[in-house]
Amino acid sequence: MHYLDNSATTQPCEAAVNALTEAIALWGNPSSVHHLGRTSADALAAYRRTVAKTLGLPRFSPDKLLFTSCGTESNNIAMLGCAAAKKRTPNADGIPGTIVISDGEHPSIENPAVRLSEQGYALVRVPTKDGVLDLDFLKNALENAKKSAAPVIFAAFMLVNNETGAVYDVKAASSLIKRYFPDAVVHCDAVQGYLKLRFTPTTLGADTISVSAHKIHAPRGAAALYISGEVIKRKNIVPVMPGGGQEDGFRSGTENLLSIAAFAAAAESGYANGEANRQAVSELRAYLNERLAELADAGVTQNLPAKRQLDNIASVVIPGVRSETMLNHLSAREVYVSAGSACSAHSKKKSGALTAFGAEDDRIDSTIRVSLSYTNTREDIDALIEGLRAGIADLQKK
Ligand code: PLP
Repeated sequence: MHYLDNSATTQPCEAAVNALTEAIALWGNPSSVHHLGRTSADALAAYRRTVAKTLGLPRFSPDKLLFTSCGTESNNIAMLGCAAAKKRTPNADGIPGTIVISDGEHPSIENPAVRLSEQGYALVRVPTKDGVLDLDFLKNALENAKKSAAPVIFAAFMLVNNETGAVYDVKAASSLIKRYFPDAVVHCDAVQGYLKLRFTPTTLGADTISVSAHKIHAPRGAAALYISGEVIKRKNIVPVMPGGGQEDGFRSGTENLLSIAAFAAAAESGYANGEANRQAVSELRAYLNERLAELADAGVTQNLPAKRQLDNIASVVIPGVRSETMLNHLSAREVYVSAGSACSAHSKKKSGALTAFGAEDDRIDSTIRVSLSYTNTREDIDALIEGLRAGIADLQKK
């Protein structure tokens, strides 16, 4: 098997599997006050500290790191929690505020933003043509929001686009927003960048950050949301799911200790080996690029961001072969890749991220995403190239 779909999910690493197995003994409810509960609560606190370290959070600070079930949940808690936090006076047009996102965001940001726009918020999508956040457009939008008295309350920018691997300049966008609207909550969906790029809340200029376990070689079922102490102090986010008040009230529901234990172990190991893992992926990517160049005669190219791309993600265009057809052909050879992103693969909708990138329809129709991890080898890439070569010979419309 040649698994080249690591942006969809990753194989759990040994540390994660061991931690999960050990955590089965911690079946007490962390909210129970007896000894069994306390043991689980202590373990939970240790897992939290481990993940916090990987985000560069100091030991004692008013910041919060919440455990959630997935990146989607973290994104929703941040955005919907911010919208619900204050009573807002609508402007002359009845608009209570503005939400800013990029036009390449994952559905877990795009769809809650659309819901808020249906509730009356103005929604601004900053273009990401060629994988670059358009900061001039953002500046104009901020000036308009100021003039029309519809203040920006929440902005979200992903660190790495899940389809193109483009790295967005979140810090620059955040600085601009804070200049016009110091009270706005700036969120970063760092799900695809976590442990692949080094960052902290300060380097991103982010008030809230989402990361997800199953993208870093832990099983599904756990994720985290960072919330800055400043946002907590200003009460700029409130809980959206009332319940037992776990996770400082922001995410009610008994914590999933098994998945969280595995998450912390994978995070710790991924953080400790970060440099070596990045180096391994960077070498694999250079090899992938070299081998893809052999298919240039068949018109094979890549959707390459103009400024910066994460080495892990290659967006490869095979003209004359529909991505789904190529995907099935590769799958029959046990080479696993995605068409666009895994989560939109079953919808017939065109990839929003590739449209935002500026790719034409026929390119979008024949784009596959190859996503690497440090667990991959050159043999995986050789199998991909041989699969593509055979697929092109059999399937390409001449
Ligand atoms: N954000 C981005 C950029 C993603 O790529 C994904 C998943 O692919 C998510 C959010 C959602 O994460 P999860 O699958 O943990 O809900």
